[in-house]
Amino acid sequence: MTRRWVPIPQKFHSLYHEGPFTRCVDCNRDLHADDCTYSIERVFRGTEPICEMAICLACRDRIVEELSQESLMRINAFVDERFDVDMRYQATQSWAGNDLDKWLDHCALLKIPATECKEYQIAALCRGKLMSIDVLPIMISGQAAEEMQRLMSKKTRDRLGEMVQEFFGMPSEFADGPDSYSPMIW
Ligand SMILES: [Zn+2]
Repeated sequence: MTRRWVPIPQKFHSLYHEGPFTRCVDCNRDLHADDCTYSIERVFRGTEPICEMAICLACRDRIVEELSQESLMRINAFVDERFDVDMRYQATQSWAGNDLDKWLDHCALLKIPATECKEYQIAALCRGKLMSIDVLPIMISGQAAEEMQRLMSKKTRDRLGEMVQEFFGMPSEFADGPDSYSPMIW
């Protein structure tokens, strides 16, 4: 799989930092140094970003390791049934790199158009100041995030809730946060 890269577009910039993300939300490492690979996730309600983070892959892997195997297996099965990585890769090959909407205008899992999502999250894979454009970026509808949350054990939901609280200063019940946010743990 050859990766195409583009400068990180504004849609994946940080509202809070008023520019590109520069630090891992967990270990605080400099994301623009060396060859650090990291992901960016942002949750929108309508057009408003309500939650966002950039996290290096080492930190992400550590968090995933803490989650229950049963939850991860259920989520992976849910995603595998709905998201064909090879097909996605083939399809995106013909898309122009400056046409980000192509990647984000439908929920990658439930195929719901973005215009019909009250809430949705977007995720990208980045290195330094570049963003990979092939399988990712993707958009995940609030409906899909909700379904994935239902597949998680209480322990896993609680752990991810803590993570959101820790990183975003939000109550773990997501009282003021997203209605449904399921970090990209697959
Ligand atoms: Zn980190």
